[in-house]
Amino acid sequence: MKLPQTLKAISVALEQCLRRAGVDTPAQDARYMISKRAGLTWAQSIASPDLVLAADVIKALEQDAEAVLAGKPLSRIYGERAFWGRDFAISEHTLDPRADTETLVDISLKRFSGAGAGLNILDLGTGSGCILLTLLAELAEIEKAHGVGVDLSQSALQTARDNAIRFALADRVAFVCGHWGDSLSGGFDLVVSNPPYIANQIIPGLAEKVRKYDPILALNGGDDGLKAYRIIFLQLAYLLKTGGLALFEIGYDQAEALMRLSGESGFHNTRVHLDSGGLPRVLEITRTEPSGDK
Ligand code: GLN
Repeated sequence: MKLPQTLKAISVALEQCLRRAGVDTPAQDARYMISKRAGLTWAQSIASPDLVLAADVIKALEQDAEAVLAGKPLSRIYGERAFWGRDFAISEHTLDPRADTETLVDISLKRFSGAGAGLNILDLGTGSGCILLTLLAELAEIEKAHGVGVDLSQSALQTARDNAIRFALADRVAFVCGHWGDSLSGGFDLVVSNPPYIANQIIPGLAEKVRKYDPILALNGGDDGLKAYRIIFLQLAYLLKTGGLALFEIGYDQAEALMRLSGESGFHNTRVHLDSGGLPRVLEITRTEPSGDK
């Protein structure tokens, strides 16, 4: 694809291309692409419509536009995704953070904003670290709020560490390579997780941008999609303090099965929250009984 040379004309051409690719917000995304490649803010772009961009910048934008037309999400092209107002680095080893997951953040903040000193958060399957780091940043007023992020992928953890540095949170977070809560002892006030929850047989039918670009490790929830929850729910008995909370992202059709599973795992104080589209999205489990007596 060939782009014109001046800023305004490039912006119009990119917008058309994005519209053709079926993206929801073409004008906004065109501005974003220009800001990434030309290093110009939106205000600068508007102020200089006749500015001629450097040939290498135009070339890069042409390649980006081709990638968009071939179905590649902008987040995968530029390696970052906005989540709760912050730009998180992502990689091929991390899930691309979804707006749906902000529901889990929203509920966590409602539960803990204004809590007293000391908050110990565990994020299982942290990926880019977007949930844990957002909570730590937003709950900064809580003295001694800190967290642990666990992931099976060392590469994902490297991205999470980079994000912790990006948001000046590195001194309040530790990242651990492991399988869910296996290598941890308890004492957490809050356990959060967006585990893989897509059933095996659904995966081939997922949208291409998910199937092709999100790591299978972050999606595949086994034969019924519930494999990770089965393991984690049993671990909550020692991971959570008495009175502690666990908040899980869940698939829209998994609420009933997970309410049952949490009951079978010994937790009877469980509720489901809906996302902004009105679909079940978060399961909240409270550990009410002391250790060893679920
Ligand atoms: N919500 C993601 C999707 O629909 C799935 C993420 C996950 O399995 N945790 O693709």
